[in-house]
Amino acid sequence: MGRRKLVVGNWKMNGLKAQLGEVEAIGALAARHPAVEVGLCLPATLIAAADGVKGAAFIGAQDCHMKDSGAHTGCLSAAMLAQAGAGWTIVGHSERRQDQGETDTDTAAKALAAKAAGLKVILCVGESLDVRDAGDAESVVSAQLLASLPEGAAADWLAIAYEPIWAIGTGRIPTMEAVETMHRALRAALATTIGGEAEGMRILYGGSMNGDNAAELMGITDVDGGLVGGASLTAAKFAPVIAAAV
Ligand code: PEP
Repeated sequence: MGRRKLVVGNWKMNGLKAQLGEVEAIGALAARHPAVEVGLCLPATLIAAADGVKGAAFIGAQDCHMKDSGAHTGCLSAAMLAQAGAGWTIVGHSERRQDQGETDTDTAAKALAAKAAGLKVILCVGESLDVRDAGDAESVVSAQLLASLPEGAAADWLAIAYEPIWAIGTGRIPTMEAVETMHRALRAALATTIGGEAEGMRILYGGSMNGDNAAELMGITDVDGGLVGGASLTAAKFAPVIAAAV
């Protein structure tokens, strides 16, 4: 079964209204590459405005709360993000796991909350450099994935992003062999829980993906696209990454 490539920008805590022109330009790029599903996970403050200029791209959030409503000052529910115009959200990004202490259990709960609000989900996993150096990366990340996996995980609403923590924003990436081995291991781990559904589930690579390395990374078996930080902030930088997915 063919898996349509998915290329998603994660703008993190970057972007003011002045950058909506980049969103519009990326939406136009997406329209030129219909074989690829292209999206931008934006700061929540930009989602509603971006929804009006997104073209063929989808707009996503970067996190959501696991509860529907209540006394959670400063947090946003999945329904709020959906109402603002998000179609997707990231959950479990390593920066949230590190900075906000989010656990695998939190991540699974957030994914379920997102699904209940009609959002599709990109669930992030990845190892530290210590784990990589110790030679434990595949087993540790597979366990993290299974512990973070929401009930009812299915390919039509969930994608996985493998993001080695030490590769995010550093300009360093694993060897192509290491990426291939990890993605194969993650699909096998998924199959132990969701059976044949694992074959259709997209597993993205993330971590210093850019126009120079995207074609090689996305050419790897079991790499079904990319989650892209720095290289998604402008249409000029993101264009070769999207083109590489075709
Ligand atoms: C990310 O934030 O998910 C990411 C992969 O960042 P970068 O591409 O900048 O390494």
